[in-house]
Amino acid sequence: MKYQNIIFDLDSTLSSIEGIDELGKLRNMGNRIKRLTREAMSGRLPFGDVFIRRLELIRPTLAELLIIGKLYKNNLTPGAGKLIEWLVGQKTNIFVVTAGYTECSYALTDKLKIFRKNVFANKLIFDLNGEFMGVDKSICLWREGGKREIVSKIMDKHKGKTVCVGDGIGDWQAARAADGFIYFGGVAWRPEVAVKANTVIKERNLWKLKDYLE
Ligand SMILES: [Mg+2]
Repeated sequence: MKYQNIIFDLDSTLSSIEGIDELGKLRNMGNRIKRLTREAMSGRLPFGDVFIRRLELIRPTLAELLIIGKLYKNNLTPGAGKLIEWLVGQKTNIFVVTAGYTECSYALTDKLKIFRKNVFANKLIFDLNGEFMGVDKSICLWREGGKREIVSKIMDKHKGKTVCVGDGIGDWQAARAADGFIYFGGVAWRPEVAVKANTVIKERNLWKLKDYLE
């Protein structure tokens, strides 16, 4: 095993959906939100601006986040479970760093038996009725460069080589602080990210990663 630490993205990587796009669909804003997501993931629009804009358009409720959590779980990317089990067997430290939201992310990471302390996500603020109030901006993941900050912190704490796996431009940026980046294009194909990556996976199966990790 080449790496002691592996850091996964969640949307379009461990899960075959983009949570925020699914939230948009719930509000009949599917196309508008999807367009914004695509622009941010490929680096054509600043991530932080898109993050806030999408949230202000949707203003998701806590109940809606829990629906997305179920969707994440039901749309696990093929091979994800097998890969995580294998990584556990290799004694690899497994992390998830996502610009998605804590409440829905745990639904998927619990299923994969990834420790909650190793899951880094954004936190939304709700009132007592579960209505949207805002985002906790003390967590850096809502803005440009946030993933990279978290990756650096993980690497300070955990010895050994670290690889990042993801599909967005932010994952590639984050991986520049790490020892390697694997672009997983099996769910969302983004040529702008693929050209930057040394390792590109086109198959829609995460088990393929094993060949590059051994
Ligand atoms: Mg992603």
